Amino acid sequence: MKNTTYDVLIIGGGPAGLSTAYLCHKNGLSYLVLESGKAIFQGIANSYPEGKLVYASKPKDAPDPFMVDELRPPDKPVTVESYLQYVQHFVQHEKLLVQTEVEFEDIKDERDGLTVVTSKGNFKGKKVVLSFGSNIPRELAVYGDAKMVAKNVDDASKYIGIKTLVIGGGNTAADVIINILKTKREAGDTHPVYWAHKAETFDVNKETAQRLGEEILLGGNIRLLPGALVRIGEVDDEGVDRLVIRINEFKQEDGIDLYHALSFPMQNVIACIGSQGPVPIFDKLNIQSIACTSGVCKIAKEGERLVLLSSEFESTRKGVYVIGGAISPSYMKISEGSIAEERHPNLIYTAINDAYYVVESIRAKLAK
Ligand SMILES: Cc1cc2nc3c(=O)[nH]c(=O)nc-3n(C[C@H](O)[C@H](O)[C@H](O)COP(=O)(O)OP(=O)(O)OC[C@H]3O[C@@H](n4cnc5c(N)ncnc54)[C@H](O)[C@@H]3O)c2cc1C
Repeated sequence: MKNTTYDVLIIGGGPAGLSTAYLCHKNGLSYLVLESGKAIFQGIANSYPEGKLVYASKPKDAPDPFMVDELRPPDKPVTVESYLQYVQHFVQHEKLLVQTEVEFEDIKDERDGLTVVTSKGNFKGKKVVLSFGSNIPRELAVYGDAKMVAKNVDDASKYIGIKTLVIGGGNTAADVIINILKTKREAGDTHPVYWAHKAETFDVNKETAQRLGEEILLGGNIRLLPGALVRIGEVDDEGVDRLVIRINEFKQEDGIDLYHALSFPMQNVIACIGSQGPVPIFDKLNIQSIACTSGVCKIAKEGERLVLLSSEFESTRKGVYVIGGAISPSYMKISEGSIAEERHPNLIYTAINDAYYVVESIRAKLAK
């Protein structure tokens, strides 16, 4: 399969990516969706609270209907669980081509198209649509982190029988810990979960603290590591990628620092250190963005950087398009020789309709 050159490679299997896939499928363009999560719509599954109703919201001044009716949420709101179930069935029924657990990393220019570099190897495409949403997990910025360290937990049972390290000081880290502690406790596993945070205090809300307290009192084995700093990623003698965290440090008069550190196999580590907008990824990909200066932007704040896109959502990197939540709440639109900030609400509606216009544009370019 990897020798195939797809018409369109789609990064992210949320509303924007799957609408792109469906429209490619309907119009005879070859395509493949690369999704980092365990399943399609992982972004929504991770970010919506249980039982949340999904609304078919449409911006007031938007002239178009939902351009892919098949993926629009019903008019009468349903829970996120039933919307996800509906979308799963739709994807199976249409046999849309999706590869899950593939993490997008980079794009390289080739003479005859683009190569997308991922955690599972390279894929070739004539066009690339970036539809990875707005929630990009922060990296620890050490060697090996991007590939090896988990950013959330899909299946806590894989941490049974191993000492686990969770990094981060907020509610997300605490929720991950509660989940792992409970799973370990129910399986009779006494290996501890280490909770490391760079600050001296943890910062969780009362409800989460109560749930965590309950889990500890029921027998959850947790070791707190406040003031612990992530230092380096390294490969040990046996070829295992490891993460070293420094748990305390003593400065000595002779200028030699003494410290204690713990080293964990990276696959035992989960980093819940928040999310960031996609600008660092655009920088890495050499996709141009522009900083808002005073008086230029109405939605973005002064100093914020907005990605520069054509009216067909093509970026300054030829053949690479950006759509959906990744360009919300606004981007810089180039049209008729001028550049202006364009409002782009983060809604399923915008994600779906962006896909429609991008596929129309790609069809015209590839004459399909
Ligand atoms: C709590 C909450 C409630 C909301 N309620 C509504 C609502 O009722 N109605 C509405 O219209 N909108 C709602 N929204 C907004 C809506 O969910 C988003 O606008 C929409 O999901 C954006 O779609 P997307 O496809 O651009 O991004 P996403 O849905 O975020 O999908 C992006 C996908 O890309 C994947 N991905 C990320 N990085 C990579 C990578 N490196 N490699 C491969 N894949 C990657 C992710 O796992 C994800 O599956 C809500 C948002 C939140 C947070």
